[in-house]
Amino acid sequence: VNRFYVLGICLCLLQSCVSSLSINDQKIEKLLSQMTIDEKIGQMCQINGFSGQIPDKIKEEIKAGNVGSILNEVDVKTVNEIQKTAIEESRLGIPLLIGRDVVHGFKTIFPIPLGQAATWNPEIVKKGAGIAAQEASLAGVNWTFAPMIDIARDSRWGRIAESFGEDPYLVSKMAVASTEGFQGTNGSLFSNGKIAACAKHFAGYGAAEGGRDYNTTLIPEGELRDVYFKSFKAAKDAGIRTFMTGFNDLNGVPASGNQFLFRKVLREEWQFDGMVVSDWASIHELISHGFSSDEKDAAKKALIAGVDMEMASSCYKNHIKELLDEGLINIDLVDDAVRNILRIKIELGLFEHPYVDENGQGEIGEKDIEKAALEAAEQSIVLLKNKNKLLPLSTKINSVAVIGPMAHEKYEQLGTWSFDADSLLSITPLEGIRNLLGNAKVNFAKGLKYTRDKNSDGFKQAIKVAKSSDVVVVCVGEEAILSGEAHCRARLDLPGIQKELIQEISETGKPVVLIVMAGRALSIGDVYENADAVLYAWHPGTMGGTALANILFGKVSPSGKLPVTMPKSVGQIPMHYNHKNSGRPVDPNNWSSIDKIPVKAYQTSLGNTSHYMDEGFEPLYPFGFGLSYTDFEYSDLRIETPVIAGTAELKVSVLLSNKGKCTAEEVVQVYIRDLVGDVTRPVRELKAFDRVKLKAGEAKRVSFTIPASELSFHNQQMMNVVEPGKFMLWIGGNSNADLGAEFAVK
Ligand code: BGC
Repeated sequence: VNRFYVLGICLCLLQSCVSSLSINDQKIEKLLSQMTIDEKIGQMCQINGFSGQIPDKIKEEIKAGNVGSILNEVDVKTVNEIQKTAIEESRLGIPLLIGRDVVHGFKTIFPIPLGQAATWNPEIVKKGAGIAAQEASLAGVNWTFAPMIDIARDSRWGRIAESFGEDPYLVSKMAVASTEGFQGTNGSLFSNGKIAACAKHFAGYGAAEGGRDYNTTLIPEGELRDVYFKSFKAAKDAGIRTFMTGFNDLNGVPASGNQFLFRKVLREEWQFDGMVVSDWASIHELISHGFSSDEKDAAKKALIAGVDMEMASSCYKNHIKELLDEGLINIDLVDDAVRNILRIKIELGLFEHPYVDENGQGEIGEKDIEKAALEAAEQSIVLLKNKNKLLPLSTKINSVAVIGPMAHEKYEQLGTWSFDADSLLSITPLEGIRNLLGNAKVNFAKGLKYTRDKNSDGFKQAIKVAKSSDVVVVCVGEEAILSGEAHCRARLDLPGIQKELIQEISETGKPVVLIVMAGRALSIGDVYENADAVLYAWHPGTMGGTALANILFGKVSPSGKLPVTMPKSVGQIPMHYNHKNSGRPVDPNNWSSIDKIPVKAYQTSLGNTSHYMDEGFEPLYPFGFGLSYTDFEYSDLRIETPVIAGTAELKVSVLLSNKGKCTAEEVVQVYIRDLVGDVTRPVRELKAFDRVKLKAGEAKRVSFTIPASELSFHNQQMMNVVEPGKFMLWIGGNSNADLGAEFAVK
């Protein structure tokens, strides 16, 4: 009787357990209970695509339930066939995740993420991600490996192009915007033209030593938490459904086998219930890192660390069963991984809507897509120099010479990760200018065949064209392939002999406008000396040429702001505005009190004691910098809450006036400094920003509310604290802004 009684209680408990599960969880548990070990392991394996017809061998694997996901397959017919095979011919009919690097567009390409960050406009970034999701989902993709939200502070690193730059606050805003753009904000994903997003690469990958891809990273825990984790936490809070590991060795433990990152921080502290995928073969790479002895050990360490799905390599496929049999891992680890994978498949709606309509149309129409890509490009372009207000040019001008290896390259202006792009859609600067001015006024010469070309035969024609025109627009930079994964550079100059081309053109005496298209912040101040105006366009994407023409001829005023510091030379790296101060102020009489030591961004001590004798401490251009065609004036900074409690909000405002002659947008930036901390604090930290549009002569009070929690940092005990004490605050148009005031936390 007792036994039946106990059994009864157990059944009741089980039942109440099951009924308290959400519908999705019930579905997951039901499926899981039906799965064999092999089928579970199958879900944890992601294999590479094959373009076109499914090879028989892979079809058999899908039928056997040995594949959970495929990446790099974007042929809609093939994707439908893959799903059909999985649903109709595998025992449990579980659909596949179809992953792809939809990074800054699919068919229509938006500026590279670094350029998108230069817009300082999360709304446009969200729109771009939404459009990318729509275009990709029509091709059968249901999961993007984006956004990349690594903090990137070294332009030698090729992947800085894919990042949103150096600042945790700005990157966090863009992380949220792109997550919401890809996934939507109200739940149902794939069937709605939305796709699952992936926060990558957790964590620290952007801090690769020497800016060399895949290289070691050494980041103290406080810095990890205050700088490198922030964007990931923001993405998690915005509901991102997947995370990707990194290739990097982080403080001696490679990210793909790092329990601290995935078990402790992501799962335990942040309560993430989505899925973690490895980076490409990064579980296998645990062996070359010297962290695992062989594939089996690598599989064990990655799974224990919390990696649910293995991309590209086969350590899980080949060894998990063996590890279970030998009792080296517990089945709970496998079950949890499978739960995380099934959960996202359910959330995507794949069980109900696995197929894609081959003639499907998205909700966002072509005109709106084009408009968004144009706006994003326009807002991403940064005006670095405008001597004697050469820009904007008049449309009444008689003739323009358009010269340079980037002037008419439909593909190259798209930048890295543009493999699905319809590059025929691209409008080049030459086309943009011709569309605006008419063919007759535009003279074109390439000068160089491509950016690395060292043959100057084309110079003669370029000079001739320059001499016969009123003004010269020279388009230089880097081709798409010069940035991106594994494409790092030790020199941040203009490749080839582009500098010489510009020099010779400037010797004609004609006014020169330089347009730089590159995947990173180049250190080419010497080149700028030979130009009257400089527009930094990153890789501006499909609508780049129209955007540039609109800016050149004043249809819009430039409004992009640098999302990374531009150093004068490679030797100044690492260089970011939010660094720590040194202990060396110049005047010993001022050592007595912290508030007697004014500090500006980039200065690590007042005077010349911590600087390079040959390069100083100033960058070429500071973070947040960007000129406009109008003159913005900042005045009457008000701190409405001069003393706040640690839980309250800081309220500040400033009067922004457009003193110039045209309508323009300005990105108003708020920086703070916590003067004294249990651990030292950066000299400046961005805490808020807003893009404001003002007509000529107009003025507006721009207000910000900053939660005190934004002032927190990790102290010596690794507690996240807002410490009482004095703070400085500055508001302005870049990180060197000097309109400041004090406030305090009590
Ligand atoms: C990159 C990832 C990317 C993956 C799949 C890797 O080499 O590091 O960012 O998502 O490949 O293409």
